[in-house]
Amino acid sequence: MAVTTVPPSGPTSSTSSASAPPSPRTETLKSIAPATGEVVGEVPVHSAADVQAAVARARVASASWGALSFAEREEELVRWRKALAEAADELADLIHRENGKPRLDGLVEVFMALSHLDHAAHRAAKALRAEKVSVGLLANFRATVSYHPLGVVGVIGPWNYPIFTPMGSIAYALAAGNAVVFKPSELTPLVGVKLVELAARSLSIPDVLQVVTGAGATGAALCKAGVDKLAFTGSTATGKKVMAACAETLTPVLMELGGKDPMIVAEDADVDAAAEAAVFGALTNTGQACISIERIYVAEPIYDRFVDKVVAEVGKVKVGGDDGHLGAMTSSQQVGIVKDHLEDAVRRGARALTGGPDAITGNFIQPTVLVDVTDEMKVMKDETFGPVIPIVKVKSTEEAVRRANETPFGLGSAVFGKRARELADRIKAGMTSVNSVMAFSAITALPFGGVGESGFGRIHGDHGIREFTRTKATAEQVFNLPMNMMSFRLPRNAADRVRGMIKQLYGSGAVARAKDLLGKLGR
Ligand code: NAD
Repeated sequence: MAVTTVPPSGPTSSTSSASAPPSPRTETLKSIAPATGEVVGEVPVHSAADVQAAVARARVASASWGALSFAEREEELVRWRKALAEAADELADLIHRENGKPRLDGLVEVFMALSHLDHAAHRAAKALRAEKVSVGLLANFRATVSYHPLGVVGVIGPWNYPIFTPMGSIAYALAAGNAVVFKPSELTPLVGVKLVELAARSLSIPDVLQVVTGAGATGAALCKAGVDKLAFTGSTATGKKVMAACAETLTPVLMELGGKDPMIVAEDADVDAAAEAAVFGALTNTGQACISIERIYVAEPIYDRFVDKVVAEVGKVKVGGDDGHLGAMTSSQQVGIVKDHLEDAVRRGARALTGGPDAITGNFIQPTVLVDVTDEMKVMKDETFGPVIPIVKVKSTEEAVRRANETPFGLGSAVFGKRARELADRIKAGMTSVNSVMAFSAITALPFGGVGESGFGRIHGDHGIREFTRTKATAEQVFNLPMNMMSFRLPRNAADRVRGMIKQLYGSGAVARAKDLLGKLGR
């Protein structure tokens, strides 16, 4: 049975918000329910020494885990998947209490996380199959590209999707043969601990997946603990700090950061469908999704109809209560950011058709539809991460594409209209949903990630599995040739022969014929 919850080692200098520690030796971190203020539970704050010890144990585990066959690892991960599925309601309840989202949303999150775990477990063998590649002119060689586990992967997660988001790294890293040390957000640590406890009961090799808890200092310690890759999901600002810390040891990083996702609604779009999707895309999880719709550009001829429909749909959205569509915001700090964006927008001339800066009670925010917004408003530039729908009227789809791309971010996006597929390729973002929102995150075979300030590297899909491997190139000589260019023993007329080859292959002579011949040889 794997022991995965790292034991703490005495007092630390962590910046945790924990109040009085339960023992004189160990600092702890309290998890507080954002909806009620009650304490959900307490976890230790792990010190740099604790984190290093966890990575050392993971290093041992990685040797056995990495040596398993794909089929054996698949079997192990499927056992974990089943244990998580059995505990789905318990996990959803914990997500609900720690993060504030409705229980149903918690359950959907568990469902989506399991779909990725299942995909990674089953797909790894195919995604990491060694590939034979063309040898070009070295006709006497066999060339292969193969993929190998990195060893130990550190995963640092955010609070907004405390299972789904880290699972995008954890499941794919494990399936690729690595051990993982996971540092969940200090706002949702218990979900992380539960995830790993269930892994401990399911996986036969101890310490393959461990959890370390604490705030930024524990995360910073993981960056410096000698992991072979650090997969970070969180804000762009913290991502830059993580990258700087990892640069000291040339630890490679995967950066899944923030976004300012645009949606474009073209003149020929189905207005009702687009409006309904916009409301869901902007408001689900109370707008606290990295791929939330944060700006909407609508063609002039349908603008009024679209705005009316969005306002009508927002009117049906219930905030709070057992049957609410939107729960509490996860942190009061985030509530402050949303309020600031709304106040800035209204001060600069935007009109709130619903909600507004005063429609906030504690951690509960009524959704706001904003019109008359301009590009210099915070709500149009910075990640709002709250239930806000800014809508902009544009004269053409050209203008919509140009303005959608005027951002340093580039995570998700959505395009509605008859030519939407064509427009999608012109959006500077890692992902686009066509005539839908956010769908790319639920399609397990599609890679997930951003460009620019939204980060780099990919989770999910085959790209996501390979992200946690080292790529190895092997050139195997299968027979010798009289003209061996990897040797000093060349024939006297070598220069003439090389000249001939240059002319034949790359000159204006019989290029096509020579290349065709090589192609036929399968090289
Ligand atoms: P955050 O950056 O505040 O924290 C993320 C994690 O980093 C936490 O676990 C935190 O403890 C840790 N951390 C803080 N300081 C650190 C340091 N110096 N070194 C190492 N780790 C440190 O982000 P958050 O507020 O938890 O999450 C919200 C953000 O995450 C949003 O910007 C959102 O867009 C982004 N996000 C991105 C994706 C994606 O896939 N691109 C997914 C979900 C969330």
